[in-house]
Amino acid sequence: MSYKYDHRLLADEMEIYFFDDQIGAGLPVWLPNGVVIRDELEIFMKRLEKKAGYQRVVSPHLAKEDLYQRSGHLRAFREDMYPPMKWPEDNSNYYLKPMNCPHHHKVFSSSPRSYRHLPLRIAEYGQVYRYENSGSLRGLSRVRGLCQNDAHIYIDPKDAASEINQVLDLHEHCYAVLGLKGYRYRLSLHDPERKADFDGPSDLWNQSEEILRECLIKKGLPFFEAIGEAAFYGPKIDVQMKMGGSDEESIASIQLDFNSGGKFDLSYVSVSGQSQNPWVIHRAPLGSHERFVALLLEYFDGQLPGWLCPVQAYILPIGEEQRAYAKQLSADLEAHHIRSIVDQNSGSLSKRVLFAHRLRPFAKIVIGPKEVASGQLVLEKRQEKIKLLASDLIPRLKEMILMP
Ligand SMILES: [Zn+2]
Repeated sequence: MSYKYDHRLLADEMEIYFFDDQIGAGLPVWLPNGVVIRDELEIFMKRLEKKAGYQRVVSPHLAKEDLYQRSGHLRAFREDMYPPMKWPEDNSNYYLKPMNCPHHHKVFSSSPRSYRHLPLRIAEYGQVYRYENSGSLRGLSRVRGLCQNDAHIYIDPKDAASEINQVLDLHEHCYAVLGLKGYRYRLSLHDPERKADFDGPSDLWNQSEEILRECLIKKGLPFFEAIGEAAFYGPKIDVQMKMGGSDEESIASIQLDFNSGGKFDLSYVSVSGQSQNPWVIHRAPLGSHERFVALLLEYFDGQLPGWLCPVQAYILPIGEEQRAYAKQLSADLEAHHIRSIVDQNSGSLSKRVLFAHRLRPFAKIVIGPKEVASGQLVLEKRQEKIKLLASDLIPRLKEMILMP
């Protein structure tokens, strides 16, 4: 196991999450530093999604058996679902939701819809539960409870290509801003030899697969095709990336679903006044918080971009005489929304610097008698040392940690 690329070791030092036997395998508890990363990613995505016309909803973590009968999850996805809960006062089984889609379909049908409402983009950072077998659990990258950067877009089938293009643009933008490289697209198709695993008629499978293929070709995005990797309700474009030097995994996927509209009796009034089933695009550019944070930790070897760092400034007073100055500096930074902490450890400075490194702060500032007397500081930003006046610290740091 390579230390450098294992998010479990990095996260342990950076105090991101933990597991506990009494809570359950694969059910991470996020610590304050981990929640900072989640929150920043959510703010980032919510801002982009608002601009792209998404509306946000919140749905419960469980639902009755009927819902998953109708969606087909109990047939095609049962092995990955937690066993049902039966409540004495209720004659139905309840399941923890393995996906947010059925709940979002209910949002669509909660109000009469016409072509004027489409595309209807419904987004949620939605918590789901999947009963992964214990052998495949791995830190945050494979868990049993996860929160997805989810959305479902309800479209007139004729708009599928243009909406898929917009969704692809959103993915490309996110990864470019985050500085992620080395991913590739996989066009995941149905397998005509395994008809029972893929709902719906062959012509719709072929038509929807061709739409995705053309979008990728026209955009000039390199991709490869994989037969049998489609979702049971439609073909998809997966974003494939290596994690921690291991095999390639899907970090996100864009699915074109021509089945759920009919299954859920979703309808809208078309331009010609007829009732039609919409198609649905399922998408999650940042996948789940769990897998995406694991990916970011491994990709950046813990040295996250400034805006995502749980600790943006780690202040080290050399002696007790500088502690008051360091505390005041930290309070000033916090007042300007820069996350900072003052070192509380004792021992030699070099030992304390090593300890600080565990948290992978964006910057370190050592405060000795010289700094206090001169008002000149040295900002150690990763490998770079920047000399500046104390009065320039806040504006300079703010620039460096700005959310892109
Ligand atoms: Zn979905």
